[in-house]
Amino acid sequence: MLDPARRADFEALDRADPLATKRDAFVISDDVIYLDGNSLGIPPRASLDSVRTAAENEWAGDLIGAWNTRDWIGLPGRLGDRVGRLIGAAAGQVLVCDSISVNLTKLLAAALQLRPGRSTVISPADNFPTDLYMAEGLSDLLGDDRCRLRTVPPEHLLTSVDDDTAVVMLTHVNFRTGAMFDLRSTTAAIQDRGALALWDLAHSAGAVPLSLDAANVDLAVGCGYKFLNGGPGAPAFLYVAERHLPQVSQPLTGWMGHARPFAFEPGYEPAEGIERFLSGTPSVLGCRALEGALDVFDGVTMADVRTKGTVLSQALISLVAESVPLAGLRLVSPADPARRGSQVSFAHPEAYALKEALIEAGVVGDFREPDLLRLGITPLYLRHVDIFDAVLRLEHTMTAEAYLDPRFRRRSKVT
Ligand SMILES: *Cc1c(COP(=O)(O)O)cnc(C)c1O
Repeated sequence: MLDPARRADFEALDRADPLATKRDAFVISDDVIYLDGNSLGIPPRASLDSVRTAAENEWAGDLIGAWNTRDWIGLPGRLGDRVGRLIGAAAGQVLVCDSISVNLTKLLAAALQLRPGRSTVISPADNFPTDLYMAEGLSDLLGDDRCRLRTVPPEHLLTSVDDDTAVVMLTHVNFRTGAMFDLRSTTAAIQDRGALALWDLAHSAGAVPLSLDAANVDLAVGCGYKFLNGGPGAPAFLYVAERHLPQVSQPLTGWMGHARPFAFEPGYEPAEGIERFLSGTPSVLGCRALEGALDVFDGVTMADVRTKGTVLSQALISLVAESVPLAGLRLVSPADPARRGSQVSFAHPEAYALKEALIEAGVVGDFREPDLLRLGITPLYLRHVDIFDAVLRLEHTMTAEAYLDPRFRRRSKVT
């Protein structure tokens, strides 16, 4: 068992933590240790204020006029540029809109269009399923000779890229293991073979430093509700490198992507810039929650977030490794922090029941099939002592065999 007196070391780390005050920006209870910010971030106070203002003052006050007076209509581009600053993208290349799934359809179609004569979409077989499903759907629609999904073992990803590969679609940080690709070298290797790189940044944006422009990324999508803390079902984002913009269009040609939506012309003409990747009306309340969440990142560097995230993750990994009662947990995340995003996953045959019992003990993580206990590390609101306390509670849950209670085996819809 870990010596509870060691908590003092973690308290000392908290006193020296330059990000410590950021915790006050969130609605967070000291009773819960939240290790699930990689699935749904905790609400930032500024998000709740922003939604309240948008509803009570703007919607209720200005009514439809707010589209102009509060520039609701400009939210996708304005927020896109703010997300751009967190992911190393210059202005005019990022939009906040729709879900990752919908945005993938737009970008996969755009990629196929940019590589006429090539029809294969390559993806690692362990990619997030929605990414694969959306490519399947596009393939069903366009036919195999125009769009064919080929899933490959991750270790054969680059050698699988051939003359027929239009685009390689891959997730930067694996949602199960937290394993992270090198953005720049992988992008370059894909492009060397004539294909485009389409990155899913769901577990990266707001968690690890990213330089999309510098890495010469072609296309990317990312999530608003995970490490960006934009709220349940927050709009996602998409990135299209400026060099591609003049040549690409996308198939979900709704009026908001038209050059002149309010001319109500019968024929479609895409907007000049990144706005051509819009489809329908922006979800204003969702955007406003995300806008407040982005305020929290003001004055924070992603390098500081990453540094703290690495310290927290390493502490978690080494405390679990030292703990005799936790010997049954097998680390499946890369041990090298440079190859890992901001989560730590352990395999255990009773991972689901453990995760449920842990929630009752005040530690919120999640479960991923078949046997993974997934613990997300969000440096903006987690303290070093939280990691220590979480491991103590995990030890207790394991030694008391609390997780063996049958009620912890009942599966909910969302795991
Ligand atoms: C969470 C997540 C998504 C979510 O997609 P939505 O369509 O926005 O629900 C997509 N890809 C990855 C890798 C994810 O982790």
